[in-house]
Parts: sequence; structure tokens; C-alpha cells
Amino acid sequence: MPPKIHPPLAKLPATIPFVAPEHTERVAGRPFEARLGANEGNFGCSPFAIEAMAEAARNDVRNYPDPECFELRQALCAHLDVEMNNVVAGPGIDGLLGYTVRIFSSPGDTILTSLGAYPTFNYHVAGNDRQLHTVPYDEDKEDLAALLDAAQKLCPAILYLSNPDNPMGTWWSAKKIAGFVDALPEQTLLILDEAYGETAFEGTLPPIEPTRPNVLRLRTFSKAYGLAGLRCGYAFGHEDLVAPFEKVRNHFGVNVMAQKAAIAALADQAWLAATVEKIAAARARIAKAAMTQSLQPLDSATNFVTIDCGQDGGFAMDVLKGLMARGVFIRKPMAPGLDRCIRVSAGRPEELEVFELSLSETLDALK
Ligand SMILES: *Cc1c(COP(=O)(O)O)cnc(C)c1O
Repeated sequence: MPPKIHPPLAKLPATIPFVAPEHTERVAGRPFEARLGANEGNFGCSPFAIEAMAEAARNDVRNYPDPECFELRQALCAHLDVEMNNVVAGPGIDGLLGYTVRIFSSPGDTILTSLGAYPTFNYHVAGNDRQLHTVPYDEDKEDLAALLDAAQKLCPAILYLSNPDNPMGTWWSAKKIAGFVDALPEQTLLILDEAYGETAFEGTLPPIEPTRPNVLRLRTFSKAYGLAGLRCGYAFGHEDLVAPFEKVRNHFGVNVMAQKAAIAALADQAWLAATVEKIAAARARIAKAAMTQSLQPLDSATNFVTIDCGQDGGFAMDVLKGLMARGVFIRKPMAPGLDRCIRVSAGRPEELEVFELSLSETLDALK
């Protein structure tokens, strides 16, 4: 008899939440000209983060990283105005989502999310043998009223919400989110994924209240900070929500370069502000390119623009394929109702030029 696989896993298909652009490049036998599909930091990262990484490469990588991420958490505490026991660092939001599902739910528990929301969360739900329940989007936003209704009926162990949202780029005001939190069942943990918190407009992020017993907020250095390859994110909330991470987390999971670069990146808020402006300019340019082609861009509070291609999911898929074939990596929402759209990340002017030309060629070819 071969070694036995944990039965709930044995019945699951192997899954890749996101097919990597590197995979597509290997299959195609050539690199993309513009990488606009993963909402990465196409404007780079703070020069101080680069210097910190170089310094860590010379002096620190031979050693294990600080398993407590002490200095990074200290910097995060100052940034968020919370205490050390309110913050845990981890290998990106993706890694923290896996821990969160393990800590706050049991096999068979119901977990609530929106249909078409962030797939890596769903991946962890399935891999831990929990039951996913979904609520459709309404007018391209996560449907707070319907989520609340489902939460009150189902009393899920966890409710996952991202604000601003991926893949649509839409958002709710801080006030709406606060009202939503107030009405949730006490025993439901809200995971508030703020991967795009840095690009959110004023009045979108609720005040930080680590006294809330059932809200865990997640942020990352992957998007506006431009450090996706480092794998560094953090969770913050009530100390009773943060403490159990010490039971499951990979203690060396935030590597030494990531810790040092994240501290340097966080300290360079001037660089971040300038980058957020570049992102806004790129969003405006993507929106204009879409409108020039009679496509409808959605308003976005993120580092991408979701574009309504005006027809069904099949047509939007053809647009995506046309762009990919012309060397432009993008992605698209797949859920019914959202699948009429493509999603284009904020890129540098030279990348957006390639996008504009390829979009025009693609749509001509589809006529
Ligand atoms: C990009 C993204 C993440 C991934 O963050 P990492 O810190 O790189 O793991 C998580 N959630 C949402 C909604 C995202 O768009």
C-alpha cells in the first residue's frame, strides 16, 4: 500500500489559483512585452528597499531571519498606531489566508465569500475541507446586503471581503464597511482583505479599531509597494485574533530580505505617494484607451482597471486571447455576470503603449 493521502485532499483536483505568466511564456516560447495581468508593482519599489535588500544580501542571508519579525512589526505598529500583539507578519496575504482558514474554522464549516472573488482564498477553503458558500456580485460590487443576509442565515465561521475589490476594482465606503461589521454575527470572523488599501480613496478604509473582536485586516507589500516577489504581508486586529497565529505559522516564513526591505519600503511614504499618483495616471490612461475603443472602463480604487467589453464572456475571452497573443499579459474575471470584463494592471507608459496598440488590433481582428 502506498502512503495514504489525507482523504479530503485525495478527492480534490490539483489547483493553480492563477496560471502564471511565466507558464504562458514557456508554452508560447516567448516572453510577454507588457506584463499587465497580476496587479504587480510595475513602477518598481523604493530605492531604500533595494538598498536594504543589497545590504541583506551581503550581510544577512546566511542567517535565519528573526522569527518574530520584531523590527518589521514594530514599524507596522507605528504605522498603524496599534500594539505589537495586534500585528502578525507572514508570507504575503496568500500565506496568511491559509493560516486564517486553519485557525478560525473546522473541517466542514461554512465559509462565505462573493462569487468570483479572490481565488486563492477559495483554494485554502477547499484544501482545508471547509464548505464554500458564495453570493453573487451586484452591479460589479461585492453585495454587502446579500452577504449580510447570508451571514445572518448561515452563521459562517469566516466571511471574506476585499475592499477595494479584486477583480472589479470597486469599493465600499468606510462607513458602509463599519455598518456591515456591526451587523455581522458575533461568531463570524470577517477577513477584510485590503491588498489595495494604499490606492484606496480617502474615506474607504475604516478606522483601525483593534478592539473589534471579529475583524482581521490583511495588507501587503506586493501591490503599491512593488515588492510582490518578496512575499511579505501582514494581518492586524484584536490580540485574541492575532495570538493563535503563533500556533500554526511558519516561523521563518518571512525571509530576512523581505523583513528588511519591507521596513525600508514602509519608511518611504514619499515614494509610495508618488507611486500612487503614477498608478492613478496609468488608470486614467487605461480607461481612456478603453473608451477610445468604445469599451466601458469601471471606476477603480486599485492598481488595475476592469473593462466591460460590452458583450458576453466569450467575447471578453477573445479580447483577452487577442491581447495575450500580441504579447500583453492580462487577466479577466470569470464568474457569470463579471466575465464580460477584462482586467488590466497599471503599467508604465511604454507598457500601456503596447496595450493600446494591441487592444486596437485585437478589436479590429474580432470585427
Ligand atoms: C494580490 C492580492 C493578494 C495577494 O497578496 P500577497 O500579499 O501577494 O499574497 C491578496 N488579496 C487580493 C484581493 C489581491 O488582489
